[in-house]
Amino acid sequence: MPDLQQRVLIILRDADAPTRPAELASTQMAPYFPDGCPPTRPAGLARPAHYQPHADTVCPACIASWSSHHVVSDPATVPDPTPPALRFTWTTAWENDHTALDD
Ligand SMILES: [Zn+2]
Repeated sequence: MPDLQQRVLIILRDADAPTRPAELASTQMAPYFPDGCPPTRPAGLARPAHYQPHADTVCPACIASWSSHHVVSDPATVPDPTPPALRFTWTTAWENDHTALDD
């Protein structure tokens, strides 16, 4: 069983609207596997869609691919029981960004 002790923060590159509408969930915390993304869904990683290594998880082999469309943080070691993955939305920031369309 691969170690599930590291996470990265992934932010979709979108310079025009970093707080784009919440439903697009442009920021997420994902599991990071220093020895490679596991071929099967890691225990505790609940996602409705089919698990895809290198698409739902991050490792040294796929970080360059992720980086083409996302900003990827350095890995952080997290304590139990940190959730494997979280998606962050920007509802308040988006609604309060009155400058975006006026500039
Ligand atoms: Zn990977």
